[in-house]
Amino acid sequence: MHTAAKLYCTQILDELALDAFAFFGLKNIRYCCNFTGTDGVYLFARSNSWFLSDARYQQQAQQQVQADTLICYQHKFDALTALALAQDFKRIGFVAAELNVAEFCALRRRGAENLEWVAVEEKINALRGIKTSSEIEALQQAADLNAKAFATIESLIKPGVSEQTLALELEIALRRLGGEERAFDFIVASGPRGALPHGVASTRQLASNELVTFDFGTRVQGYHSDETITLGVGYVPVDLRRIYDLVLEAHDLALRWVKPGLSLAELDAVAREHITRAGYGENFGHGLGHGVGLEIHEYPSVSSRGKDQLQAGMVITIEPGIYLPGRGGVRIEDTILVTADGYRCLTQIPKQYRAL
Ligand code: ZN
Ligand code: ZN
Repeated sequence: MHTAAKLYCTQILDELALDAFAFFGLKNIRYCCNFTGTDGVYLFARSNSWFLSDARYQQQAQQQVQADTLICYQHKFDALTALALAQDFKRIGFVAAELNVAEFCALRRRGAENLEWVAVEEKINALRGIKTSSEIEALQQAADLNAKAFATIESLIKPGVSEQTLALELEIALRRLGGEERAFDFIVASGPRGALPHGVASTRQLASNELVTFDFGTRVQGYHSDETITLGVGYVPVDLRRIYDLVLEAHDLALRWVKPGLSLAELDAVAREHITRAGYGENFGHGLGHGVGLEIHEYPSVSSRGKDQLQAGMVITIEPGIYLPGRGGVRIEDTILVTADGYRCLTQIPKQYRAL
């Protein structure tokens, strides 16, 4: 665990009168101790840390994991509760979303009824919300791959090509360039399908005189890229062209407001009001953006529900959209790093209107 995270976690242990944190989720485990396998538990206490995993992962854990003690278990929850009881722990923090109900019941049944489990989700979200320089470096590399990969498939974007072909070529290009895996099922939504904010690539073929939206990304060292561009195919009708300009204005306006201290809800409102004043408020049904890191969608949510404020070191998306059912849609998305005096854009593809 990096030093700032250690300090932060120790503070939270004190604040909530906890003896330890147990991390069951793979992203938090990776964040805390570098383990990239698919099963394990990381237990953090003031004076010691443990990583527990099964026999499949012993070698990998020895090579990767930063923890004081490595433990090999046969039954995860038995081993964890035995360890906690041996350490005389009474209250252990955990992230509720990392266990399902059956697992939580199993954890409480194993002779450890006196251990108290305390949900600490929001505190851990806040820790991961501020990126370290090495995290920012990986996020930047992933964003760079987006631009390089997209440049290689641009010549394929023309009437007659299917959305699925474009999604596949984009994915292959990202993998060839060194991206780890696609960040999510790519959205390639052309013509009327552009009105589906999550229109995963279909067999539809692009036609002339319509818009096409690409939302795609990859991963570098587990860190995601996320970017959306909307392009014209041939001459695009004036009403669609008008919504492109509006979405771009809302995107640019939001970027101008980004700085530490601004509330997440206020940032969402800046873009939303611009679109609403033009009469399309009902056609912008999702939040303005989200945090990006080891997860494609993570804390903070940039929406009217966002309770916190922007802070330097957050990496978030700005992605306003307008969707006209039966007609088409536009979304424009950049991933940015919040800096002390504003922002730095990690994604590189230019967002001014272009038609191919
Ligand atoms: Zn996206
Ligand atoms: Zn996004």
